[in-house]
Amino acid sequence: MMTQTNINQKGYYGNFGGAYIPEMLYPNVEELKQNYLKIIGQKDFQDELTLLLKDFVGRPTPLYFAHNLSEKYNTQIYLKREDLNHTGAHKINNTLGQILLAKRLNKQKIIAETGAGQHGVATATVCALMGMECTVYMGEVDIERQKPNVARMKMLGAKVVPATSGSKTLKDATNEAMRHWINNPTDTHYIIGSVVGPHPYPDMVARFQAIISEEIKKQLFEKLGRENPDYVIACVGGGSNAAGAFYHFLEDKNVKLIGAEAAGLGVSSGKSAATLVLGKTGILHGSKTILMQTEDGQVVEPHSISAGLDYPGIGPMHAHLFESKRGDFYAITDDEAMQAGLLLSRIEGIIPAIETAHALAVLDKINFKKEDIIVINLSGRGDKDLETYINYYGF
Ligand SMILES: *Cc1c(COP(=O)(O)O)cnc(C)c1O
Repeated sequence: MMTQTNINQKGYYGNFGGAYIPEMLYPNVEELKQNYLKIIGQKDFQDELTLLLKDFVGRPTPLYFAHNLSEKYNTQIYLKREDLNHTGAHKINNTLGQILLAKRLNKQKIIAETGAGQHGVATATVCALMGMECTVYMGEVDIERQKPNVARMKMLGAKVVPATSGSKTLKDATNEAMRHWINNPTDTHYIIGSVVGPHPYPDMVARFQAIISEEIKKQLFEKLGRENPDYVIACVGGGSNAAGAFYHFLEDKNVKLIGAEAAGLGVSSGKSAATLVLGKTGILHGSKTILMQTEDGQVVEPHSISAGLDYPGIGPMHAHLFESKRGDFYAITDDEAMQAGLLLSRIEGIIPAIETAHALAVLDKINFKKEDIIVINLSGRGDKDLETYINYYGF
């Protein structure tokens, strides 16, 4: 029997997923659940999305044969260039899909949470495009740490609301966004930024990101006459770029699916975000998944040098891929990622986001064969991380 890799009727991937939400959120989530597949399936929806992905986002993104990197690792490495999307990462694939859905649900207002600000920027961008009112919740600490992205959101016309409770970071911003949604159920859509949250979010976001693997298949076929690589490698924060890169390969057991988590200063350092190594099953942001928690179930503050991987949980799809052993996950330290980021810059002329650099660092962890075809999802560009790179290397 095949292991089930997609969600069942109730929104579970194996033992993970579901919708663990307060009663007051039920109508909002139910409205979405009843409508998302129907709307996504409509021709006018697909036509509008496809055109905007092409002309506004810049898709299809290239699948680039990284000659120098391939030579160094003595194998065949292709980079899926999500860094070339408008706004610099894969996140816009999802925000664009969700805002078109929100319009068809007659919503006038959009809310979002953001940690590093990347999802906030991608949301503010599509709100400007569609003329929708945009409110982004962001931890007070993150607002201070991520000033350029706060400025971008404001330039795009979004309201940035500081979350001042708890640790004043991403999970507190998420709580504030949920509270806002409970109080404004009829006119507001909540755009979640990864394959996390209550069903149907993980499945909906995965579908919007699935364009990545759809293109990989076509592009590999054009280049090599075969649709499937031997490996697909992606970094995993909540898991949306990985979900998109894996999506159309989930049922092809010959394609090895590799995720890279952030180990921070090391998995046993107390300063890590390696959820699958350190976590246990629990409920986080409305879904049953694997998360880092204390003995009595309090969420542990994660650490990673990359703000986008600094999340204490992982989407339910990846928890299932891990548990069912369909996916292999590696924990990459800050140092390993920073080295991989510098290497790509120096030998391929591409400065990757530090999140993405975690996926590149997997090249040092596996013994590939010369003829292996490897696709690495280059989730984002490193412009936003230059200060971190510079401070780290002391250039
Ligand atoms: C946000 C972000 C990530 C992590 O999010 P996922 O949902 O795990 O993809 C990875 N890379 C970049 C460039 C990001 O901006």
